[in-house]
Amino acid sequence: MDAKNMKPESLAAQALGWVDEATRAIAPPIHTATTYLRDEDNQYRSGRVYSRDQNPSYDQAEALITALEAGHQSLLFASGMAAATAVFLALAPGDHVVAPKVMYWSLRNWLKNFATDWGLVVEFIEMDSAAALQAAIQPGKTKLVWIETPANPLWTITDIAATCRIAHAAGALVAVDSTVGTPVLSQPLTLGADIVMHAATKYLNGHSDVIAGSLTVRADSPTWQRIRAIRAQLGGVLGPFEAWLLTRGMRTLFPRVRTACASAQRIAEYFDTHPHVAEVLYPGLPSFAGHSVAAAQMQGGFGGMLSIRVKGTNERSGEAAAIATAAKVQLWKRATSLGGVESLIEHRASVEGPGTPAPSDLLRLSVGIEDAGDLIADLEAALKLAHA
Ligand SMILES: *Cc1c(COP(=O)(O)O)cnc(C)c1O
Repeated sequence: MDAKNMKPESLAAQALGWVDEATRAIAPPIHTATTYLRDEDNQYRSGRVYSRDQNPSYDQAEALITALEAGHQSLLFASGMAAATAVFLALAPGDHVVAPKVMYWSLRNWLKNFATDWGLVVEFIEMDSAAALQAAIQPGKTKLVWIETPANPLWTITDIAATCRIAHAAGALVAVDSTVGTPVLSQPLTLGADIVMHAATKYLNGHSDVIAGSLTVRADSPTWQRIRAIRAQLGGVLGPFEAWLLTRGMRTLFPRVRTACASAQRIAEYFDTHPHVAEVLYPGLPSFAGHSVAAAQMQGGFGGMLSIRVKGTNERSGEAAAIATAAKVQLWKRATSLGGVESLIEHRASVEGPGTPAPSDLLRLSVGIEDAGDLIADLEAALKLAHA
């Protein structure tokens, strides 16, 4: 069977079925060499000179991400932040970019501070509104529209295809942080996006033991070549062992994400009517603002991320009750990050600090692959203790 006809599940499970030609090993070796032998006639026919950005340990992971995203080419980076910032640094000072008000907080901070100091004109808008984008975009001047969907920590949904139509009509590129969407659930490039970014730290690796990022492009372009040069010259590259772990992690991407989605849906529905919960934010709930757009552009689930807003009591504010709930869980791990096999719970406003769009009573939940009933029982017990 030709790989072109295989389902992404099959490509991921076997990491494209690559075999090490020298040994016939079905798991790849880890290439630690930093430099490569030059031919006697002074050529480099291997195509590799120095491994800052030429390590063979990247090849399989990059090829797999490219296949799963239906893209042209991918690049691994040392972190999601290294990947995301490379996209902005490929622009020029003075360029106008549009970004969402609700987005991954650390990138928002970088855009507000470093990127703005460097000369980018960054405008933050309600990205779930086509009218807001239409009003913000400046034909010829806006070079990039950055979106994240579902977006941290409210899981705001942005219509990728509609955003691309507006941005492209004005001559701007569209880049999508698809960390939470994962290639299992959505493929932004097939909806018109130019670049898709992953914090591979999260679902792609899936085991909370690698910091990594990736970019995948729909078609080659001068911007993509600048991004390649930025990786090579700024040197935010992944280590070979981390690339190897990432490849291994991606082999189980589909069953992990599907389990997390199914459990997240159950957890969202259960707590949506719970007496100690004011609101559940999850794109899989029909009452959620972005539900119909999410249903149209995500397949097979709405992701493993949700947030709950905890009700206060006579003695405790919603914020205090949320923090007390997180303090009482046993199975959920009280930690930041997301997308691992273990479920995490976090009082998000404490992490993000001033300027966060997270309400003070919000707990962010990253659903792992434990038994959903156990996760529900543990959270319910913690809510009960916090409201005792
Ligand atoms: C974690 C995360 C990032 C940053 O990735 P790092 O690997 O931590 O640098 C970017 N976007 C989203 C949505 C994330 O969750």
